Amino acid sequence: MFGRGPKKSDNTKYYEILGVSKSASQDELKKAYKKAAIKNHPDKGGDPEKFKEIAQAYDVLNDPEKREIYDQYGEDALKEGMGGAGPSHNPFDIYEAFFGGGAFGGGGSSRVRRQKHGEDVVHTLKVSLDDLYNGTSKKLSLSRNILCQKCKGKGSKSGVSGRCYGCQGTGMKITTRQIRLGMIQQMQHVCPECRGSGEVISERDKCLQCKGNKVTQEKKVLEVHVEKGMQHGQKIVFEGQADQAPDTIAGDIVFVLQLKEHPKFKRKFDDLYVEHTISLTEALCGFQFALTHLDGRQLLIKSNPEEIIKPGQSKAINEEGMPHHQRPFIKGRLYIHFNVDFPESGILSPEQCRTLETILPPRASKHLTDMELDNCEETTLHDVNMEDETRRRRQQQQQQQQYPEAYDEDDEPSMPRVQCAQQ
Ligand SMILES: [Zn+2]
Ligand SMILES: [Zn+2]
Repeated sequence: MFGRGPKKSDNTKYYEILGVSKSASQDELKKAYKKAAIKNHPDKGGDPEKFKEIAQAYDVLNDPEKREIYDQYGEDALKEGMGGAGPSHNPFDIYEAFFGGGAFGGGGSSRVRRQKHGEDVVHTLKVSLDDLYNGTSKKLSLSRNILCQKCKGKGSKSGVSGRCYGCQGTGMKITTRQIRLGMIQQMQHVCPECRGSGEVISERDKCLQCKGNKVTQEKKVLEVHVEKGMQHGQKIVFEGQADQAPDTIAGDIVFVLQLKEHPKFKRKFDDLYVEHTISLTEALCGFQFALTHLDGRQLLIKSNPEEIIKPGQSKAINEEGMPHHQRPFIKGRLYIHFNVDFPESGILSPEQCRTLETILPPRASKHLTDMELDNCEETTLHDVNMEDETRRRRQQQQQQQQYPEAYDEDDEPSMPRVQCAQQ
């Protein structure tokens, strides 16, 4: 006679957990799981243990083979491996396999799950300063993997795939080896037979379109809108447009703007810089010139009356810099840095110099008396190339570091040459 002994395992608990009758259909099970899983998801503050139980119950009852074993022999039979169930699944895997996407806003995505996040695909997009000033859109043709339309990413004609025998459908294989007596090491690795998918598709059942690969290649044209005022290094993101794969949340396609150098304008945030060379006469007597802006407009730039421009001086024009991103009606400043081109030697005769002196301040050097001149030594001015000079100075510095004592003498003559004497 069978008593309800402690060994007799329970075969109603799973139905109770999901709140369905023992005769519940697949559809009813799915609905019940969906409701319970959403309500008890730990990311929404649900109890993780309860969530796990719900997943476990659904995992068993949703599988006809397992459900039969459970109905007949109860929970323990499954634990003993009668259904080929193996170790219980990660409840989050079950959840995501069901909902086919990230849980609530990707919360808790640091957990190890079978539902992977696909990798982002990053491209650099070269843009000119004109593009960033005016805004532009660029059409780019890319090819990517998409889930096979024919089999909806199942890989098979029938829409079902068998559970991989190698890993019992978990996608992972555990191998154990004995390190020494009584000590066993367990190692987990991706199942080589199904490459981690947990599924196998028979040769005959493979989808003809994707040949069982579940994905096909698609050519796609993306229109990238480069907005006015965007910056070098800024990202334009096409969410979820990267390669699709089964059980994977597709990554993003990301374009990173890379600014090509402009021959004339430089940019610093919302300001623009341009160099302009004027002659000495223009510097002294005034100038005007037309500057072609990044949108093709001609700006008339002229000096203020009687203003003298000094070499290296900068001037600014308001509202002619870069448009501010997302507020393009606000613009930075345009700075003009002036170089003054001096005339070559030999163009002024002594007579012309005297004429110049009637306008410009007279030369101070003329006021040296003969007496003072007699007391001076003659020197000659040589041309120098500043780059050569810098190199020469660097060499001197290196020598000084190598032989510091050789240079001490003249620098500090009062310092005793004996170090640490009498200390
Ligand atoms: Zn297919
Ligand atoms: Zn496998």
